Amino acid sequence: MKPAHPEDNVTRMKIPPRIIPRSEHHISRSDISDNALKVLYRLSNAGFKAYLVGGGVRDLLLGHKPKDFDVVTDARPDQVRELFRNCRLIGRRFRLAHIRFGDEIIEVSTFRAAYHVTDGERHIEDGRIIRDNIYGDIDDDVWRRDFTANSLFYNIDDQSIVDYVGAMADIEASWLRMIGDPAERYREDPVRMLRAIRFSVKLDFKIHEDTEKQIHELNHLLNDIPPARLFEEFMKLFMSGKSLKVYHLLREFSLFPHMFPLTQQILEQDEARVDSLLHRVFLNTDERIHDDKPVSPGFLIAALLWPSVMEFMEEYKSNGLADQDAIMLASDTVISQQISSISFPRRYTLMARDIWLLQSRMKHRRGKRPMRLLSHPRFKAAYDFLLLRAEAGENLQEMVDWWSDFANRYQDIIEQNRHGRSRFRPSGRRNKSRRS
Ligand code: ATP
Ligand code: MG
Repeated sequence: MKPAHPEDNVTRMKIPPRIIPRSEHHISRSDISDNALKVLYRLSNAGFKAYLVGGGVRDLLLGHKPKDFDVVTDARPDQVRELFRNCRLIGRRFRLAHIRFGDEIIEVSTFRAAYHVTDGERHIEDGRIIRDNIYGDIDDDVWRRDFTANSLFYNIDDQSIVDYVGAMADIEASWLRMIGDPAERYREDPVRMLRAIRFSVKLDFKIHEDTEKQIHELNHLLNDIPPARLFEEFMKLFMSGKSLKVYHLLREFSLFPHMFPLTQQILEQDEARVDSLLHRVFLNTDERIHDDKPVSPGFLIAALLWPSVMEFMEEYKSNGLADQDAIMLASDTVISQQISSISFPRRYTLMARDIWLLQSRMKHRRGKRPMRLLSHPRFKAAYDFLLLRAEAGENLQEMVDWWSDFANRYQDIIEQNRHGRSRFRPSGRRNKSRRS
């Protein structure tokens, strides 16, 4: 079948899908989590349609381990709730059922109608979806999904795969392709531009020409995304183990300036210096995630905003403030400006702030001060950050040598006081985000 094409009017019509029978694909029920199977079978036994959909099907076809399993059904949210004791309905914009099994959440959504239908349950403003609770059937639901690769349905009844948009062909050819008209779909939900970057990096897919072109045109729409939603996307983008590649693509598509406007300003003034720091921190983060070591978003935030903090600090110092006062004020200025784009939770911005303040305190190496610093819960993070700055070309070698020697001698003290909380383990359970 010809893949769905943006200009294809066919995308709005009811067309028969391609059905790939069990004998022609390699997804086996043993690849699917027991809890997802339980949900699928209970829905099906109650007479509802039940499919695995989205990333789960895509990842199994590609031989990856799915992050989570999403289910779609013709049962309405309240009917889903009647079937499962461990079920909670969430979301106003998109009403969904979350079925919880210990640490695992299976998200169950009801088929939604195509987006050009409007009535009281769907609300669109300036082309953007604000609320969408009009239900439909599987052949309506498929058109509201973002990329072809994310639109396959695995039918629990006969274990076939249902493909309306040429998704199998795109997956085989490693294409990431928006369903429908990309410009319209990005306007409906600008987060899809970030999702394009994320999936192309995660799956190593090429972004299809039209899907790609419109990101260059519409990147400014990111400014309209609520900062809380951008934070969720930030986490998925940068805690994926491929943050360096993500960073390069976000810059290539000019999405980065809308996420980190202050950092962008400094990049424009001094590309080599800032890029070198960011390059190192992302590389380092990716390596830690691959080695299953904990990483903290606070550390990333510290690096991303450090050049801006330094700039404000210099300005405040030239206005007569002492070092410590200048860096405190600079930290507060930078954080308060940044969170109007991405609302980083306070626990992370506090960590970044501690790391910055300690950079300045590490200059003092006489008397009891170094010992006091050593027992600061963030000393280890601040020391790692100092190393990173030196590697990135700041002239700090002498300071690094001194602190390395000192820290080596008192490792046990550092470990005793080290902050164990608010660190992020990539393998841990994450909150499921609302979708659009
Ligand atoms: P992963 O879970 O690996 O991040 P995923 O493809 O499963 O990837 P989810 O965010 O879990 O992504 O969403 C599940 C499915 O819901 C997607 O595959 C897609 O079909 C649909 N979806 C999610 N977010 C959007 C969106 N913003 N616009 C359109 N469809 C979406
Ligand atoms: Mg998913």
